[in-house]
Amino acid sequence: MRPKVLLNKEIHPQAMNFLKRYFDILIADNPSEEALLKKCAEASAIITRTSSYINKKIIEASPKLKVISKTGVGVDNIDVSTATEKGILVCNVPGVNSVSVAEHTVALILAVAKDLLIMDKAVRKGEWNKRYSLRATELSQKKLGIIGFGSIGRKVATICQSFQMKILVYDPYLISSTIGKLSIDLINSLEELFKKSDIISIHVPYNGKTHHLVNSSLLKMAKEGVILVNTSRGQIIDEKALFEALKDRPLSAAGLDVFEEEPVNISNPLLTLENVIFSPHSAALTKECSARIAVEAAKAVIDVLNGKEPRSIFNEKGLRKKEYL
Ligand code: NAD
Repeated sequence: MRPKVLLNKEIHPQAMNFLKRYFDILIADNPSEEALLKKCAEASAIITRTSSYINKKIIEASPKLKVISKTGVGVDNIDVSTATEKGILVCNVPGVNSVSVAEHTVALILAVAKDLLIMDKAVRKGEWNKRYSLRATELSQKKLGIIGFGSIGRKVATICQSFQMKILVYDPYLISSTIGKLSIDLINSLEELFKKSDIISIHVPYNGKTHHLVNSSLLKMAKEGVILVNTSRGQIIDEKALFEALKDRPLSAAGLDVFEEEPVNISNPLLTLENVIFSPHSAALTKECSARIAVEAAKAVIDVLNGKEPRSIFNEKGLRKKEYL
C-alpha cells in the first residue's frame, strides 16, 4: 500500500503531479481542524499552507505521521513542540519565497510613498487637481529601517539601496560576518530604529518573543511622518495601536500584507483609513513562487518518506536533543 499524504488545500499542479507518482493524496474538504481530523488518521505526511493550524489534536489523531511540510518559511501555524515530542519532522522552505516577498514589500513602499492609490482614485473621479496635493515623497536618501535581516530583509535592502536609500538594521541575532558587501548601519534597539527611520519594514518570524513587538509605546517614538510596511505576520504589530498611530500620527501611512486575524474582518477599523494600502497575505503568491514553493514542500515529503534527508528541518535541533535524529 502506498503512503498517504494529506493536504489542507490543493497545491500547484506541478507539485501535485510529483506527489501522485509516489503517494495516495487526501485533500481536506476545507482547511478547518474538523475537516483535517476527518482525514488525518491514515496520513504519513501533512502538507499545509498558512490557512490551517496543525495543532496538537490533529497531530495526536495522526498515528502514522512522520512529517509536516509547510509551503513557506513561517511555521507559526504548526504546533512544532508537539511534533518534536512525537519525533515528527517539521519541514519548511526557507529562502524560496524571499524574492517574491521582497519585491512585494518594495511595491508597497513605492505605492505608499508615491500616494498611488489616492492618485488612481482621483483620476477615475475626474479630480485632476489632486496632482497638486504634494503628498508623494522620494525614496532617495531616506532611511529605511529593517527589522529582521534574514533572507527577505536582505533582499529588500539590496533593492532599496539601488534607490540610494540608507539602510538601518535591527536584528539582535545577526552574525555580522554574514552581512557581505551590503552597506548597512546596525542599530542596537528597536526604539533607536523607530526614532531614526523614515520608512520601517518588518521581516521577523512570529513567535512568543515577537508577539506585538511593535506596540503603542514604540509607535509613539517614531519619527513624524514615518511609513510602516509589514509583510511578515500580523500579530507582530498591535493593530489597535497601529490604528491610533495612523489616525493621529506620528505614522503618515502604511502598507500591510498581513493581519492579526486572517482573513481580515471587514469591520477592522484599519480598513477605514485612506492612508493604508492592503494586500490579502499575497506577497509570496506570484506565479513563479507558488510553483517553486509547492514543489519544494512536496520534495521534503518525498525525501522523508523515502528515508532521505530533506533540505530544511525546522525542528532539527529539538529532534536531535530527543535523539530522534
Ligand atoms: P529568515 O528566517 O531568513 O529571517 C528572519 C530574521 O529575523 C533572522 O535574521 C532573525 O535573526 C531575525 N529575528 C528573529 N527574531 C527577531 C527579533 N525579535 N527582532 C529582530 N530580528 C529578529 O526569514 P525570512 O525568509 O526573511 O522571512 C521572515 C518572515 O516573513 C517569516 O518568518 C514569515 O513569517 C514572513 N513571511 C511572509 C510571507 C508573506 O506571504 N507575507 C511570505 C514569506 C515569509
